[in-house]
Order: sequence, then C-alpha cells, then structure tokens
Amino acid sequence: MARETAPWLESASGRGGSAEGVVHVFWLAGMSCDGCSVSVLGASNPSVEAMVVGTIPVLPHVVFHHPMLAEEAGSDFMGPFREAVEGTLGAPYMMVVEGSIPDDQTLERAGQFSGLGVGADWPRGSSSSRGPEQPLRASDWIWALAPGAAVTIAIGTCATWGGIPAAAGNITGSMGLMDYLGADYRSARGLPVVNVPGCAPVGDNFTETLAQLLQYLEGIAPLPDFDDLGRPAWMFEETVHRHCPKAGYYEEGVFSEEPGDDQCLVEIGCWGPVVQCNIVERGAINHMGGCMVAGGACIGCTMPGFPDKYSPFYKAPPGSAFSGSVSKVYGGGIRRLRRMSMKTGNREPLWDQTDVVTSGWGRGKGKRDPVDKVNAFFYKKLQYRGSVNHGKRYHKQPLPGSLDVLTKNGIDHTQSVDVLGERIKSREEI
Ligand code: SF4
Ligand code: SF4
Repeated sequence: MARETAPWLESASGRGGSAEGVVHVFWLAGMSCDGCSVSVLGASNPSVEAMVVGTIPVLPHVVFHHPMLAEEAGSDFMGPFREAVEGTLGAPYMMVVEGSIPDDQTLERAGQFSGLGVGADWPRGSSSSRGPEQPLRASDWIWALAPGAAVTIAIGTCATWGGIPAAAGNITGSMGLMDYLGADYRSARGLPVVNVPGCAPVGDNFTETLAQLLQYLEGIAPLPDFDDLGRPAWMFEETVHRHCPKAGYYEEGVFSEEPGDDQCLVEIGCWGPVVQCNIVERGAINHMGGCMVAGGACIGCTMPGFPDKYSPFYKAPPGSAFSGSVSKVYGGGIRRLRRMSMKTGNREPLWDQTDVVTSGWGRGKGKRDPVDKVNAFFYKKLQYRGSVNHGKRYHKQPLPGSLDVLTKNGIDHTQSVDVLGERIKSREEI
C-alpha cells in the first residue's frame, strides 16, 4: 500500500492520527527466533491487517510498532517508543514482548544479548549508560515501557515462562516477562502480565486476546477471564487430549508404534493428556494443521518448564504406562463390540429385507451370517426398548418395484468389464 494511503503508518510516525480511538501496540523482541511474529502475522481471526486497517467496527484503530510491519527504520521507527516513555505519545499503548528476557541488566559485563535502538533514541531526561551510537538493550525498553503500558502481553513460551533460552545450560540468565517484572507488577490499567504461550503460539490466540483486551480498554466489554498463570482461560483450560482427533484411538487402546502411524501417539511421547493447549481445535494457521492433526506428538510447548520438563522428547511419559495399559484392556473390548455394531451399521435396510447386497464395490459380499443376525436382534431390542422401531412396525411394507432395474429391463451387463479388473459377476455367481 502506498505510504500516503496508509493512515496507520502516519500515526506510527506521530504524524496524524488522534488520541480518540487509537491504541498503539509496541512489539519488543528479547531472546527470540521471531516465530511468534510469523504466527501472529499469519493470524486470520482476527487478522493483524484487519486491526491496523480498522475494519473491525468495535475495535479502536491499532497502530502496530513492529519491525516486520514498519516502513520506518532507525530513529524514525524508534521515535514513538521514546514518546511513549516520555508520555507524549498522545494515546494509550500496549507492550507486547516476544522472546525471553536476558539478564543483561545484571550481567552488564557479560555482553548484550538483544538490542533495540541506540542511545540517541533513549527518552530525553532519562539517563542511559549508552552513548548516542551505542545499541540499547531490549530489556532497557521493557522496564521503561512497562509502567505506562495499559496492558502488557507476553507472547510465546519464551516470553511467558522463559522457554528454550531459559532451558538447562542457560548462560544468558534468560527468563520470562512475568519473572522479569515481578509478581507485584501491574500495568497502567492494573493488570499483571497477560501470557499467551506456545512455541510457536497459535497466532489467532494472540490476536483474539488482543482484540478482547482492546474492547476492555474501550469500555465496551468486561475484562476477559484469565487463569492463575495469566493465560486466557477460555483458550487454555482444556488439555490437548480432550480435543485431539486421535483421542478415539486412545479410548480404544490403539497406539502408534512409530512416527507416521495413524493411531494415538502417547507411546511415542505424546504429553497431550496433561498439557493445556487449544491448537488441535483452532488449527495452527487459518484453522489448518496443529500438532496431532499433522501427525505430531505433543511435547508440551505451551507449558511452564518447557522444554526441560517434557524431555526427552518422543519418549512415552511415565504416566502413560498405567493409563495406556488400562486403555488397552478396556479399549480392546470396547473396540470389538463397536466393530460388531459397525458391521450392522454399514448395511442398507433393503439388503436385510431382500438378502441381496447391491454394492458392486463389495461384489456382493456382506451377507449377514447367523451370528450377526442374532447380535443385531438383541442390539435392536436394547436400542428400541421403550421406543418405537419403525423398521419393525413397517416390515410388511412392499419392496420398491424398480430394484435391479437393468436386469428387469433385459439389459445384459454380465459381460461388461468393471474398472476393478474383473468381469461383473452374475446374480447366480454371487
Ligand atoms: S495423540 Fe496425544 S493428545 Fe492425542 S489422543 Fe493420543 S495421547 Fe491424547
Ligand atoms: S499440542 Fe503440544 S506441542 Fe503442539 S502446540 Fe500444543 S502444547 Fe505445543
């Protein structure tokens, strides 16, 4: 889009836009792979584009200060960051942090692990240990922006709980945003850090949370429901397992033996029964994909302590030895009973009445044996107990007159060849 037709870019530069109905969102990256940015920019419900263009009627105009969206660079890009800290931005702002926070405030001499801007960009009147051309730390901006932010959001497991940079062997002292700001931290609107975990997180989880919080800031919706860890409760209260497309296999005690198998993945390292995540319901991007949907086991990437607490990956969780064994015994029996019901279910009532199976694909197979008939008889007894069995009530209803219409009209199709490579068998051969 041309610069002159992009009002959010005008606002982002402090040239235009008004305080009314405008909320700035400052996106900062700590120890990050940018995966959260990729997820969020691919979100669709709602999308970032819809928010910045302002096509969602109830939401204020969102001005994103994100390096992947910005046309500005250098001091032009950093200007609004400085204005936000100085209190001259003229509109409320939110702070979003992607990636864990390195301990470079105390490890001053150990190095700088993630930077943003240079000393010349630092708010006027605030002291900085950096010279005008020296890079500032991302952590400098985080503690400077946090007190004035209307809402502070940590996106992704690195920013929420520390994630991979905070795993064993962490030489940077990396931690989550909550740990960095402390339990007493409250945003300008009185909220602790909001956490949207995942590695990478579901982009829609973030944009939906942002949209809900924007409505709250506008005073048109109540504060969304967050759990004890600051996660959007409606997204993270259920386990992966409860909504997994493979949960039926688990219930029937059928388990994959190696990656690529279709069945439940618990025996090859799936932690889904104890991990809170909504990716299989929501999909990874645009309602598509998501770990088990794509055949992957859950490695607990939304959870505090990931990755160490869920390693070694692809090894059966200890708890699955018990629950999986119970499931094999119970599920094995249930599975056999269901197969019997399915055998009956995959038949047309007409086939039972005429004792002729009309599916050419089955080549006439599928006649019921006496055991199936007995099973079906008792099953129906239970099924229709206290109710009406219409099949039984109308069992004297005449058969349709056009059954097997080609044969009735004298068309000989016994010599034709079917695509399955065999001559269609005559009635007598079936
Ligand atoms: S694959 Fe994982 S989440 Fe899905 S049913 Fe099996 S154990 Fe549960
Ligand atoms: S299902 Fe497990 S591995 Fe996949 S996104 Fe959710 S928590 Fe992470």
